[in-house]
Amino acid sequence: MRPNVARVALPVPLDKQFDYLVPAHLFPVVGGRVSVPFGRQTLVGIVTQFSHESDFPIDQLKPIKAALDTQPVWSTPLYELIAWCSQYYQHPLGDTLSNALPSALRKGKAAEFAATVEWHITEAGKNQLMAGFGRAVKQAKVMHMLESGPCNHQAFIDNEVSTSVLKTLTEKGWIDSQEKQAPRTSWPENMTNEPVDLRLNAEQAVAIASVNSQNEFGCYLLEGVTGSGKTEVYLQMIRPVLERGQQALVLVPEIGLTPQTINRFKKRFNVPIEVIHSGLNDTERLNAWLSARDKVAGIVIGTRSALLTPFADLGIIIVDEEHDTSYKQQDSLRYHARDVAVMRANKEQIPIILGSATPSIETLQNALSGKYHHLILSQRAGLAVPTTNKVIDVKGQYLEAGLSAPLIAEIRRHLELGNQVMLFLNRRGFSPALMCHECGWTAECRRCDAYYTYHQSSNEIRCHHCGSQRPTIHQCESCGSNQLVTVGVGTEQLEAQLESLFPDFNTIRIDRDSTRRKGSLESALDAIKKNEYQILIGTQMLAKGHHFPNVTLVALLDVDGSLYSSDFRASERLAQLFIQVAGRAGRASKPGEVLLQTHHPDHPLLQSLLHKDYRHFAETVIEERKMARLPPFSFLTLIRAEANNSHDVETFLRQVRHSLEAHPLFDHQSMVLGPTPAPIAKRAGKSRWQLMLQVPTRSLMQKIVTSAKPVISQLPLAKKVRWSMDIEPQDLS
Ligand code: ADP
Ligand code: ZN
Ligand code: ZN
Repeated sequence: MRPNVARVALPVPLDKQFDYLVPAHLFPVVGGRVSVPFGRQTLVGIVTQFSHESDFPIDQLKPIKAALDTQPVWSTPLYELIAWCSQYYQHPLGDTLSNALPSALRKGKAAEFAATVEWHITEAGKNQLMAGFGRAVKQAKVMHMLESGPCNHQAFIDNEVSTSVLKTLTEKGWIDSQEKQAPRTSWPENMTNEPVDLRLNAEQAVAIASVNSQNEFGCYLLEGVTGSGKTEVYLQMIRPVLERGQQALVLVPEIGLTPQTINRFKKRFNVPIEVIHSGLNDTERLNAWLSARDKVAGIVIGTRSALLTPFADLGIIIVDEEHDTSYKQQDSLRYHARDVAVMRANKEQIPIILGSATPSIETLQNALSGKYHHLILSQRAGLAVPTTNKVIDVKGQYLEAGLSAPLIAEIRRHLELGNQVMLFLNRRGFSPALMCHECGWTAECRRCDAYYTYHQSSNEIRCHHCGSQRPTIHQCESCGSNQLVTVGVGTEQLEAQLESLFPDFNTIRIDRDSTRRKGSLESALDAIKKNEYQILIGTQMLAKGHHFPNVTLVALLDVDGSLYSSDFRASERLAQLFIQVAGRAGRASKPGEVLLQTHHPDHPLLQSLLHKDYRHFAETVIEERKMARLPPFSFLTLIRAEANNSHDVETFLRQVRHSLEAHPLFDHQSMVLGPTPAPIAKRAGKSRWQLMLQVPTRSLMQKIVTSAKPVISQLPLAKKVRWSMDIEPQDLS
């Protein structure tokens, strides 16, 4: 008899699965989706096994409502990889599986290509284009978009066109739409457009040859400064993979910032390329997913979430900018896409290439120790020349909105030569605090252990931790004085200061506030490229992936915070930012200059960065980490907890500590630090504490947390506090 009990993993925050009856007329499969009743809802889950028995009385089980797939959703290796993620990162299986699906499948849609709607202009519309649209600017915008070719829905969303405009224009008969089936093209004979006039240098040739001779698992670090030809190497590694009929997965930190790279892939290869990122709508995402699964696409380029895309026949994985922090997810399933990508390559027995100008300390150590192959590109392929790097000692100097006099002079010099300058300050808003000049009282968020940031443009004070905001205050809440002053400098103030210092030049600010609107980052970057702005101000956001050849001066305004941070990775991140911006400043005809403002010009890490190179810096850091037994020389798990009652949180974490230390393999080489208050001890009204487990090996960490987790979940206080486990945390706050 067919087993009539199905065990189903559901997208709920519980570490268990649920049994359902399989009605005689339904034929679900293991690894396929089913929809089932759950409380008053209907959920979509994945069948993990069939059985004849259940821990519950069989006659009380509810029946499956529908079987949604006739085939497993994933191949066995990919399913195992997702299950491994769930286990390794201590996140419930059902939720992990569900999150690996495109949302259309999560909602129970069929796993088939869905039609996308495409809009085009009609003959009547073309006539109208000549007549114009009078004051109907929104309509004119749509018509002009369509004038240059058909658009899909996403294009309208990106350009903030509302559906009502489309409706009006359709009713007028000026535009029309049709459903477009995703093309099922096969790959052409001629898959590659060979670059003309390009001779690989010796290091590139070696890198390509070592990977191309490999068709089993191997992990390669491709270390090379910006412009050393890494992308060219990726392209030439992918070519033989496609020719063998296999596919390629390329992970990048952020799609919006890498249009040039994507265009290079599209120019080089004539196979379909799918680009997967958070801006896709449900249909587009499903189509991209299916296109990879059914081998319509030859190449998938995507951000972190593209990692678990199914492929008919994956032949290579490339992780560009492998050190980038966006590869680590900071909530829910707290996975590191780079690390899981290495695991995937291992399971699928294919090569993986981790590329960076500034490899993470973890990856570099793996390469130096021989665990990974180390490929180095030491020469710049293009015409770029090294920058001049200097520190400006600001000890005792007067700073105008964070700018020292020597820096202002340099900015003036570069601007007068007709160049662009780029200034980094990792603090948005006008100033990070608002203080009473009479009594020292400082405006503090009522719900967080943090000061309000003053935002002049909106005349508000905002808490950057809980997002609360209110109109700015003009009176001290302690002594009643109206002598309120701003303390410290944010990007907004810097912008205002530069505008008044250099009224003849245009200033633009790139941070989370100025780029909130969709598409505004892209258009700002475009305007910078067209030289519409000469002074560029930004947070780290501005550093990622851009190439502005006309920028000849880059300044990091406040590096001291990173040199003396409580986060042991802060100096690594500073070095990565520095190399990244230095790698992009200037070119042969316009040499670049990088300036760092600091109170600690002699700091050894700064000195090694300025006068040696990233590798020298990184090797110093590796030695420090080894001495301090920090990652990669130990493995960390961060347990965070929060609740209204501080005492509950602390007590809970103390109990957690006991259950970790109770493990028989926990010995003198292992350590639990805490409970300690989190760096932001209170947020949105909740007290926050944390606990750090530090052990010598990854397998020991897994054993300890795996056996402690069910015990922790059963603690009575576990119901009163919100808690989470972050395996190999990247952000310690
Ligand atoms: P990266 O990805 O390391 O920044 P790219 O691959 O983008 O480097 O190379 C930088 C520039 O140099 C590109 O314009 C690329 O086409 C060019 N390039 C790469 N390799 C060579 C080569 N061997 N000879 C000449 N130009 C090259
Ligand atoms: Zn707050
Ligand atoms: Zn006061």
